[in-house]
Amino acid sequence: MTGVLRTPDHRICERCDRVERYDEDIGGWRATEVSDVNCIHEWDIDGKFIPIREAALTPTAEEC
Ligand SMILES: [Zn+2]
Repeated sequence: MTGVLRTPDHRICERCDRVERYDEDIGGWRATEVSDVNCIHEWDIDGKFIPIREAALTPTAEEC
C-alpha cells in the first residue's frame, strides 16, 4: 500500500478559538492572533485525524 503522510497545518483551540498554523521555517506552531493566555488549550487535532491517506491524488489512467 502506498500512501501520503499528512501532517496537520493548522489547529484550533476548542476552548478559546485560538488558531495556530504550523510554520515550517521555525519548525513549530505560530498563533495567527493573540488569544487568552490563561487558556489550557484543547486542540481540535485528535484521534480522528488520519495521518496517512492512500495515494488518491495520483491521477489514474483514463480508459482508452
Ligand atoms: Zn485555548
